[in-house]
Order: sequence, then structure tokens, then C-alpha cells
Amino acid sequence: MAEKIKLSFLGTGSAIPTSRRNHPAALLQYKAETILIDCGEGTQRQFRKAKLNPCKITKILISHWHGDHILGLPGLLQTLNLNGYNGDLTIYGPKGSKTEFKEKISPYLSFYWNLSKKQENKFNIIVKEVSNKIIFENNEFYIEAAEMDHGCPTVAYSFTVKEKNRLDKLKLAKLKLPNSPLVGELIKGKTVEINGKKINGKNLMYKESQKKVTFVLDTKINDNAINLAKGADILISESTHSAEEQEIAEKYGHLTSIDAAKIAKKAKVKKLFLIHLSQRYDAIPKVILNEAKKVFSDVIVPDDLDKLEF
Ligand SMILES: [Zn+2]
Ligand SMILES: [Zn+2]
Repeated sequence: MAEKIKLSFLGTGSAIPTSRRNHPAALLQYKAETILIDCGEGTQRQFRKAKLNPCKITKILISHWHGDHILGLPGLLQTLNLNGYNGDLTIYGPKGSKTEFKEKISPYLSFYWNLSKKQENKFNIIVKEVSNKIIFENNEFYIEAAEMDHGCPTVAYSFTVKEKNRLDKLKLAKLKLPNSPLVGELIKGKTVEINGKKINGKNLMYKESQKKVTFVLDTKINDNAINLAKGADILISESTHSAEEQEIAEKYGHLTSIDAAKIAKKAKVKKLFLIHLSQRYDAIPKVILNEAKKVFSDVIVPDDLDKLEF
């Protein structure tokens, strides 16, 4: 069985939270990786409500430094410190993130961290500024960033699990092969002879296709967003405004429902999730949903704490 990507919507609101929708935050889990995308105020309580452990976080991706996307960081980082978070934590963000972190987040951290005078309790925070490129890559997956258009340095992110040839362990078990170093050759797709039987390794392999999730937070519609989301299984996009608020959306650098749906359509994604809804649509998310559906059929407006895996 292929490993699944798990997504949790921790906050689906925008600048002003409502009883239904907290500020933006999403969590992506894949194997040992737990990646937090944006961290609005109150995100750490959303972790608790979703029965998720913030100490499992391995990376934080920040879209931009507007308050609704980062005010949860001081409290979250304090909790990690109090709970003995181990190792280095890398926070990725757009150009200027090092200064933003130093000015907006660090003052709180030094206050809290000085209270517990145990130096060894402190974990390392590394802030990395990213632009249009792959920002992390290993054998299994890579993370890309792309610059957006929001009036301040802002990036969107994609998380892609690479296409891979994998061994069908059930098929292998059925062959009841003795322990032999030749089994290792089968895994490489070679043909070997075991107990007088010729076995073609290629018949034991299957192709696990690429999986991709794209996160487009605050931005005007732009080509980078379309290119970054190309072929994604899931696009999670902001949709602050409805179609009739096109002018306001452009003025403040946001997407309307139609803009987000156009990005999904042009990028040929499979499924679109709309978040960062203005409080005006708190009770009537269907307005946003139905408008988007006119352009792109497979669209969902998730609620806070909704989860999915694929
Ligand atoms: Zn925002
Ligand atoms: Zn913003």
C-alpha cells in the first residue's frame, strides 16, 4: 500500500476569526514529515482540537508575514519549547522573513525562554528565505515555492511526492523465496534464478504515481500560481471574496471564488479546496462554493478541523 498524504484544515478563515473559522493554518503529514503551512493566532489550540501533536512538526512554511498568518507562532514555539521539542526547526518564508521573525516573533521567545534557564531545553530555529525554486528535496518528495502578488513578499508552496517504482511485497511473499542476497537484485528489477526458477524482478514492481498538493494563500491571480499548481491532485487556495467583490479583491491583493477556480482549471488540478473566506461568508459559504463551481466542478469549502488523506 502506498503511503498516504494526510491533510488537516486547522484554520479556514481569514483576517478576522469567527466561531466557525479560525485564522489560516493547514497541516500536511507524510511518513515522518509533518509540515505546518501558516500559523494564524490560536493554531496551537486547533492542533489540540484536531487531536494532533504540534511536537511532531518538522517544518513550518509561512506564506507571508501578515498577522493572520503568523500570530500563532510565538505561542506555538513556546509550547514546543516547554514540551522539550528536539532538534532543529526550519521555518521557510518569503524574502524578508529573517527580519520579520527577529522583530515580530523573537521578542516573545527570549522572554519565555529566559524563564527556563536550561539552555539545553532550547531548540534551534532556522529561518530560510525562499523564492521561485525547489526549497527542499529528498528521495521521497520535494517542496517548491513561487512568488505571489499580494503587496508584500508572499510565496505559495507545493509538496510533491515523487513517482516511484515500488516492490509489491504481497507478490514477493507469495513466491515464498528463501533468504537470499538475490532477493535484493529482484528489488532492483533484475531477473535472477532462485531454486532453479527464473524470476523477473520487474514483475514484482509497481509504479506509484506522483502526488502533489499546492497551497496558494493570499495573492492576486497570477501565472506563478497556475504554474506552481500544474497537475496537482489538490489545490488549497484562498478565496477571500465573492465574484461581486472583484474590485476589492484586486485592491487588497486577494482572490475571488472565480479567480481561485480559474487557477484550478488552468493548472488542471484534480480537486480544489477554498479557504481564507472573509467573515462575510461565514454563514453563507455556499455563495463562494457555487460561484467557483461555475468555472471548476470539483470544489469544496472545508470547515475547520476537516481532514482528508489520499
Ligand atoms: Zn490573510
Ligand atoms: Zn495577507
